[in-house]
Amino acid sequence: MTNPILSNWTTPFEIAPFNAISDDDFAPALEQAMQAHNAEIDAIADNPDAPTFANTVEALEAAGEQMDKVLSVFFTVAGADSNPAREELQRDFSPKLAAHFSGISSNKVLFQRLADLWSRKEDLNLTDEQARVLMLTHRGFVRAGAALEGEKDARMQDIKARLASLGTSFTQNLLADERDWYMELSKNDLEGLPAFVVDTARAAGQEKGVKGPVVTLSRSLIVPFLQFSPRRDLREKAYRAWAARGANGGETDNRNISAEILQLREERAKLLGYDSFAGFKLETEMARTPDKVRDLLMQVWGPAKSRADADAEILTQMMQEDGVNGPLEAWDWRYYAEKRRKAEHDLDEAALKPYLQLDRMIEAAFACANRLFGLEFTPLDVPLYHADCRAWEVTRNGQHIAVFIGDYFARGSKRSGAWCSAMRSQAKFPKVQAPVVINVCNFAKGDPALLSYDDARTLFHEFGHALHQMLSDVTYESISGTSVARDFVELPSQLYEHWLEVPEVLAEFATHAETGEAMPQEMLEKVLKAANFDQGFQTVEYVASALVDLAFHDGDAPADPMAKQAEVLSQIGMPQAIGMRHATPHFAHVFAGDGYSAGYYSYMWSEVMDADAFAAFEEAGGAFDPERAKALEENILSTGGSREAEELYLAFRGRLPGVEALLKGRGLIAA
Ligand SMILES: [Zn+2]
Repeated sequence: MTNPILSNWTTPFEIAPFNAISDDDFAPALEQAMQAHNAEIDAIADNPDAPTFANTVEALEAAGEQMDKVLSVFFTVAGADSNPAREELQRDFSPKLAAHFSGISSNKVLFQRLADLWSRKEDLNLTDEQARVLMLTHRGFVRAGAALEGEKDARMQDIKARLASLGTSFTQNLLADERDWYMELSKNDLEGLPAFVVDTARAAGQEKGVKGPVVTLSRSLIVPFLQFSPRRDLREKAYRAWAARGANGGETDNRNISAEILQLREERAKLLGYDSFAGFKLETEMARTPDKVRDLLMQVWGPAKSRADADAEILTQMMQEDGVNGPLEAWDWRYYAEKRRKAEHDLDEAALKPYLQLDRMIEAAFACANRLFGLEFTPLDVPLYHADCRAWEVTRNGQHIAVFIGDYFARGSKRSGAWCSAMRSQAKFPKVQAPVVINVCNFAKGDPALLSYDDARTLFHEFGHALHQMLSDVTYESISGTSVARDFVELPSQLYEHWLEVPEVLAEFATHAETGEAMPQEMLEKVLKAANFDQGFQTVEYVASALVDLAFHDGDAPADPMAKQAEVLSQIGMPQAIGMRHATPHFAHVFAGDGYSAGYYSYMWSEVMDADAFAAFEEAGGAFDPERAKALEENILSTGGSREAEELYLAFRGRLPGVEALLKGRGLIAA
């Protein structure tokens, strides 16, 4: 019998036949798919004919169809509806998959064919998109080290292996420091803490085998503790432990590890012919150069620091009125900021919630997509992997565009957070395929299900990613939808969040669950204002970390990263009552792996763009300006990675993004 994952899917729109697949099917399907993929790769590499775009690049695009099927089904259920068997499979699959894909990117025979095509690219008569796919494929192999020979090749393999093991040690040390520390709270110590913090602290105590409540170093517990506890002595003790993670001396100290990682990254970049690791990392990004990143961060830094300095004065005054003398410290900021928030923006979350019904917010996201891009959504009855999943057929002028699946409710089998993935990406080669896109969230179930304002933003955010997939209109799958630079990929999602804030959208869709009345204007304004609270602090703690990350990877690697960190902070005049969001010994984004090294800036980069892009609508005919919507689809939502991100943005906006809209949006300069 054919494995149901690898069979022909005869379901509507060829959605994976989830009800026919059992967990026992995954391992044999993956084995078979990897073998088939390897055979396809070997056939391309060993082809006796001279390399052509068709027999090499297009053949690579077409290869791996079975892998796509297995991985899309498996990672959908492993993330959104796991169980012990699926967790076990995931542990088993991840090293196998890493080895499989690294085997392909270090295949020298295959690389020779790509290098040959690359050297003759002008004579190949390629379309713009084909030239782009050839460039990206060739560059991917070069960056993985496929062009290195002999000693250099061997050294590269050693560096990669050592970096992988250092990254793992960094993570484990951090976890050990986080696990080992806790502070018991007596009954008196609970004063001032809201019930949810006390509950979390009790649950944490149980987990540690302690009778009473404890504070741990988990962000979801220590941050509210620092926010609400009036006990300055306890806040100081907890904060100091939190800030010292990874720098406690002994076996779990990460300071030497971070120095070695930076040295090896620099050596790796130089082996590949780059000046620095930042040069290597940023080559594939929209930002391109360290100078452009620094320039953008510093444009935000100035106004953020001014705001933070002014806020610090107000908070210091509040502290003195409390009878505490001396300077405001890092363990004081959140506590006094929370007091100030309560006084200035008393937003009653409980009164807000009935206005944000999940079903109405889904309708709102769809209605905006209809007004902007003409998309229509019709419920679709197909068996999916969980009864809570819903599906819609997406059409435009009667033409099928995509299938959209929403899996919105939290459950124990789902990992935390929210995400969007394509179970099938749009492509026209080797055959035309329409996308199947899923949004997964973790909203509380209810009847009716009600959202917080943050939840509603998340819904719009993930739907923005979904639009990027669904409106994709390219030939090759490798550059389809969200296959764009990392510092560009959050543009469509963060941009879409802005439509939730459009007053006419909230007026129509934020209706009270019981009375059906629209949200009062006054409440709407409070919501929008509260979102900007304490942005001086938030921006400063983030930008400081981003600047240190950049300084580590631009130019020679520092022998002493802690000294380098101190130097950067002193140069920018870091306010003394604000800590870095992530200090070096626990900066997992940068040291646990390569993902955000020389790349932590990208959150801010995307936010600058989304604010600037939405301002383009406001400057034109408003949030639903049809010309702007058309330009957005033509130049950003449909184009995937077929052109450079900067080129796409220029085509949409007519100029590069400026920071003004972001600074206004965060309330750091006057609107
Ligand atoms: Zn996102």
